[in-house]
Amino acid sequence: MPLTGGPLAALQSELADCRRCARLVAWREQVAVEKRASFREEVYWGRPALAIGDPAARLVVLGLAPAAHGGNRTGRIFTGDRSGDWLFGALWRAGYANQPESVSAGDGLALTDCWVTAAVRCAPPANRPTPAERDTCTSHWLIPELELLVAKRVILCLGGFAWETALRVFDAPRPRPRFGHAVEHRLGAGPGAGLWLLGSYHVSQQNTFTGRLTEAMLDAVLGRARELTQGHG
Ligand code: SF4
Repeated sequence: MPLTGGPLAALQSELADCRRCARLVAWREQVAVEKRASFREEVYWGRPALAIGDPAARLVVLGLAPAAHGGNRTGRIFTGDRSGDWLFGALWRAGYANQPESVSAGDGLALTDCWVTAAVRCAPPANRPTPAERDTCTSHWLIPELELLVAKRVILCLGGFAWETALRVFDAPRPRPRFGHAVEHRLGAGPGAGLWLLGSYHVSQQNTFTGRLTEAMLDAVLGRARELTQGHG
């Protein structure tokens, strides 16, 4: 369900036209023209992938960046790829999503008390944005987005890149906690004071195919996220 009205919708609308990172713009558009053979009949979005969720969310799920043939094709983060199947399947089991599938921007998916976004909003080559691209994207899009999510209490970071991004975005004091699966950290002083960071291995196929991340592990992290959003620290 697309956002209608409000400052978050306005921000997403601006985001969709962003061309600040020349390398990523070139890559996202090249992929959109070349396509994967199995999607050759589809029109790729080829622009920054939009977030999805509940503007009143207490839980924010933070990924790395859209996949070349996932979010870069469908226009919505974690939509149309295996990572998204895993994530939204888990969010559905946890009661955050109205359906387990996330296949296209118009598929009727709606989230309650949860917002799903990413550190970098354009698909990067080899899933590796540069530090400059990350900083450009977070300063223009992620930080304003997080500021508008006024009810947030927990940032669930999928993978070490998201974890490091969250620590930077909230200017967490040093020494900073290391990323790990199910690691949790409450931010002290700074712009994120009182927020919980929660780590999970990323839902990428590298982790889910190998058994490094199981459904039970992801379900447990989401259960803990629910407890933390309810004030059970
Ligand atoms: S990665 Fe972010 S800042 Fe860079 S072009 Fe895409 S949306 Fe804009």
